[in-house]
Amino acid sequence: MKKHNFYAGPSILSEYTIKNTAAAVENFAGTGLSLMEVSHRGKEFVAVMDEARALVKELLDVPESHEVIFLGGGASLQFCMVPFNLLNRKAAYLDSGTWASKAIKEAKFFGEVEVVASSKDRNYSYIPKNYTISPDAEYFHITTNNTIFGTELHHIPDVSVPLVSDMSSDIFARPVDVSRFDVIYAGAQKNLAPSGVAVVIVRRDALGRVERPIPSMLNYRIHVDNGSMYNTPPVVPVYAALQTLKWYKEQGGITVIQQKNIEKATILYDEIDRNRLFTGTAAVEDRSLMNVCFVMKEEYKALESAFNEYASARGIVGIKGHRSVGGFRASLYNAMPKSSVEALIEAMKSFEQTV
Ligand SMILES: *Cc1c(COP(=O)(O)O)cnc(C)c1O
Repeated sequence: MKKHNFYAGPSILSEYTIKNTAAAVENFAGTGLSLMEVSHRGKEFVAVMDEARALVKELLDVPESHEVIFLGGGASLQFCMVPFNLLNRKAAYLDSGTWASKAIKEAKFFGEVEVVASSKDRNYSYIPKNYTISPDAEYFHITTNNTIFGTELHHIPDVSVPLVSDMSSDIFARPVDVSRFDVIYAGAQKNLAPSGVAVVIVRRDALGRVERPIPSMLNYRIHVDNGSMYNTPPVVPVYAALQTLKWYKEQGGITVIQQKNIEKATILYDEIDRNRLFTGTAAVEDRSLMNVCFVMKEEYKALESAFNEYASARGIVGIKGHRSVGGFRASLYNAMPKSSVEALIEAMKSFEQTV
């Protein structure tokens, strides 16, 4: 039976990505060798890295002022690399969820951190608004999509300091004005590739401003100057990322993908709001298009595990909510077909009939 994959991360990838990557693991670019056993300095892999970087630029309309690099260590390493490279004295952070608070914790190793607002008071179920940022903050760090709590910034805040964003779970899900950011980073395992790599977009002239020495592997400039090949990159995830990027381009680009994402999320939220068993957990105006969090209403709470089993018998996997929210989380990343969302909706409707 075909599985409907709603895992939050690592998560669904396009068939195109999986098939082409599997083929290259067996025979890479006609070399007769596996992608895993050839030099990353060979012309075949250099071409992969160059094309992947170029496609990120093309799909997100990255201006000339910015560079694209692929780095190991996931998004969590960026929690530390960002302040290591950009924070001299003070930076502002928005505490909108678990990942944001982890980024805050790391930044504190490097300087003063001004947490301008937090939604922790209501278990991160909304995006804080109406805050002020000190004009002397060197950057303002946001998390555009809060994977665990299912909230998303639908508008990039209008602030006077440069922005830095963790876009791990909504990069390539909608167009973004990259010129407003000093750094955008994303772990690959939600909308791009298997885990093991992060894509980082960095403004060249934001670098070189901090006074501290930066170890080479943690220095953006070193990776930029070496074309993202300072050391051996994670070749299989980068190859897979290239396949996903090609597939995005084939679909018509990020605006087309955004339209599909809106459609998928809308039909699922409509069903959550209609169905008498379920209720959404995120503030309606901040609902994420990527991670849809919902629970059973108080009077039906005891049925949560029964619904999980009911859904899994229909090939629906990965909808169990994160332990800090409970209930259910359906992740609708770019590679998720609308038919899988419809299968989940169908299961919600038919389960309601049984109660
Ligand atoms: C998954 C996730 C992370 C953590 O990514 P790693 O690659 O595991 O370090 C960080 N931020 C957000 C928003 C995420 O969704």
